[in-house]
Amino acid sequence: MIDKPKITVMPKYVYAFGGDNTEGRSDMSDLLGGKGANLAEMASLGIEVPPGFTITTEACINYFKNKKKNKFPAGLWDQVKASLSDLEDKQDKLFGDADNPLLVSVRSGARVSMPGMMDTVLNLGLNDKTVQGLAQRTGDERFALDCYRRFISMFGNVVLGIEGEKFEAILSKKKASRKIEFDTELLVADLKSVIKQFHTLVRKSTDEEFPTDPLKQLRLAVEAVFNSWNIERARAYRRMNGIPHDWGTGVTVQAMVFGNMGESSATGVAFTRNPATGEKHFYGEFMLNAQGEDVVAGVRTPTDISELEKTMPEVYKTLVEVYQKLEKHYCDMQDLEFTVENEKLYLLQTRSGKRTATSAIKIAMDMVNEGLISKNEAISRVPAGQLDQLFHPTLDPKEKIHVLAMGLGASPGAATGKVVFTPEHAQEMTEKKEKVILVRIETSPEDIQGMNVAQGILTAKGGMTSHAAVVARAMGKPCITGCGDLTVDVKKKKCTLNGVQIKEYDSISLDGATGRVIKGQVSLIRPRLTTNFTQLMRWADGVRELNVYANADTPHDAMVARDFGAQGIGLCRTEHMFFDEERIFLVRRMILADNNKVREEALKKLLPIQRTDFTEIFRVMDGLPVTIRLLDMPLHEFLPTKPKEIQSLAKDMKISRSAIMGKLESLTEVNPMLGHRGCRLGITFPEIYRMQVRAIIEAACRNVKKGENPVPEIMVPLVGHVNEFDRVRELVVEEAEEVIAKAGVKLKYKIGTMIELPRAALTADKIAEKADFFSFGTNDLTQTTFGLSRDDSSTFLPDYVDHGLFDRDPFVSVDQEGVGHLIKIGLEKGRAANDKLHVGICGEHGGDPDSINFFHDLGLDYVSCSPYRVPTAILAAAQAVIKAQ
Ligand code: PEP
Ligand code: MG
Repeated sequence: MIDKPKITVMPKYVYAFGGDNTEGRSDMSDLLGGKGANLAEMASLGIEVPPGFTITTEACINYFKNKKKNKFPAGLWDQVKASLSDLEDKQDKLFGDADNPLLVSVRSGARVSMPGMMDTVLNLGLNDKTVQGLAQRTGDERFALDCYRRFISMFGNVVLGIEGEKFEAILSKKKASRKIEFDTELLVADLKSVIKQFHTLVRKSTDEEFPTDPLKQLRLAVEAVFNSWNIERARAYRRMNGIPHDWGTGVTVQAMVFGNMGESSATGVAFTRNPATGEKHFYGEFMLNAQGEDVVAGVRTPTDISELEKTMPEVYKTLVEVYQKLEKHYCDMQDLEFTVENEKLYLLQTRSGKRTATSAIKIAMDMVNEGLISKNEAISRVPAGQLDQLFHPTLDPKEKIHVLAMGLGASPGAATGKVVFTPEHAQEMTEKKEKVILVRIETSPEDIQGMNVAQGILTAKGGMTSHAAVVARAMGKPCITGCGDLTVDVKKKKCTLNGVQIKEYDSISLDGATGRVIKGQVSLIRPRLTTNFTQLMRWADGVRELNVYANADTPHDAMVARDFGAQGIGLCRTEHMFFDEERIFLVRRMILADNNKVREEALKKLLPIQRTDFTEIFRVMDGLPVTIRLLDMPLHEFLPTKPKEIQSLAKDMKISRSAIMGKLESLTEVNPMLGHRGCRLGITFPEIYRMQVRAIIEAACRNVKKGENPVPEIMVPLVGHVNEFDRVRELVVEEAEEVIAKAGVKLKYKIGTMIELPRAALTADKIAEKADFFSFGTNDLTQTTFGLSRDDSSTFLPDYVDHGLFDRDPFVSVDQEGVGHLIKIGLEKGRAANDKLHVGICGEHGGDPDSINFFHDLGLDYVSCSPYRVPTAILAAAQAVIKAQ
């Protein structure tokens, strides 16, 4: 009997492009990376690209799986060598040949572009022999040596891990000794001496000679590019942009073309439209006699692209034809990289260009008007998550910055000011017209006034739904939380950022969009809302199905939200209303009172104050629903902690200091977030909820009498059992009906509950029988589903994301599988029991585009988010509809 041969089918790891065979296409970027896919597409379009081949992202992923063995996946190297041999034929040159050498570039390329995050090696294939062949073939020894010195330093840095500055130092020393400014002025003898010193540096740093075998060079370079997928800056970029760590990078190996062959050669980068403003004009820079990295590294100042028309009119003409063709082909703004070798133009890359929100909107609108894309495409093109960029000052991109540390970009916008460490100090300084940045280990609700006056907030602890983050976003203030490299010494009035000491009043700047903490003052620019933005919002309104409400606690926030198109308030957190000096004093008296009389007196004084709050909010939101949540926060968070405050409270209440201390101690909880908070407070202290309901309904009745149309909705927090809801509901109805009867007006109001505990979701049918609405509090629901404290998770959660245990921070983008499943159960059970039930979301996820897409698919009625995120939610809701079509 014949043995059955073992047949193993190797994956195809290598795809050729250019010349007479191109195997890829632009829609293959998952496999080939954006660079590889688009090079193949350009080759098929007849645009001049140097030929080459792309190693797939699958090969990279398999390489990491094999990593322990430090081996390429089986078959990969053979496929690379076969493609290299084809490339030799296409170019009529030989790899490693001393007479007519083929040189290649080895470049990274992920599915989505991660500009500058990974590594590249140029001029690969050079050694002491091939460099002579290159010199002879081109008749230009200086050029050949220039390529060689570039190659040794790039390979030395990227592949052999030698600091780039060491090569730079040798080059600078040579230029200084020759009293020249630019590398283009180095002569043959200078370059030879630099190369010799580079070789010595490599030998000393690695204990080995620089590898001369081009095949070995190639293998090591491919491996280094694979590994650059995991270097820190690439990981950080992925974390910031929600790109999974398990995608891997493609590697493109491409025949070199040379922009450094003298004054008729050049290299450049260009955008088909302005990426900052969206203006329709060709935008870019080039550099004569240079290679790609020179433009990025800024060794010389590049020249505006318009100058190319004068320097090389024919090349410019071709470049314009190419860019127009590409933009039309891709129907999107392109970011191009090109090289001119002896007046011949080659394209090295095209990709969808990164752009600001302003630019994204303008380009999308213009492209609709030009007939390039449809309205729905325009809606889908604008990144919804970037829209809040439009409303906050941003860093002036022309500014040179020094990043001291990175934290979580919790609330976008940029801020610059003097460092202070306490909220009181922030207030004092602001009264003196100083701009301050409040730096804290973490913030507590008591910091709110300091936060309110600060330009921006920086905290060492806390995640994206921590107090600081939520409050800052609602205020539209730049905020960075969870900055692990920040240590704060409030007593000594100083902090350190990655070891750099910053004292009180030193200036720092924050970029709340990216989480960058920057040294010193930087200039900021304030964007203006354009008619394009208004138009885009109108289009989105016509498409979306989800309603969009706002989380707003003050008349000002409500006004901002309404101006942005909010259709109601989905969450008014009343605890934030109690934090001014007079109110907190009354609240403290109420909590610490040991008899009803004192408590009622305090509540009586609070009632008119609360009523005024609600009157104003109803007025701003006239005709639209205003969902007011009864007090949620643990009582002890209202209580004084400083000896001076305790003393003055004792004096005022005419009780001993020790009695107050005893009371404070009795209210202290080990785990307040799971303790005496939410409706549990309303059950043990019904007077508080009664006062709040009275204030709400009295305010509404007064507004009705003035001819207004308030729509109050009263929301009970942290319900876990139907009996809790029933108890509070009875209380609310009793109080409300009494007020309405007394006022003698017609007023409709609703009573609903938050669903923020798993038990509530699982028993939603019972709760829904008597509830008018459900609002999923996904912050607490995430916390309680994972058993993961929303305020303490920043110490380890980033590692989870970093190591791929979680795709995203579940406090930022809803965990669809777990928390989302509970929402689905709650929704289905709730609607089955009560078909009139109105259901929404008011956790921070209500402003996250991916989560909104999920909520749309589930069929919720509305999402509610902070005022400045309302446009994001409107756009994301429309995008969800288009995506589902
Ligand atoms: C929530 O838990 O999702 C919520 C909106 O309430 P808070 O953030 O105030 O706890
Ligand atoms: Mg909550």
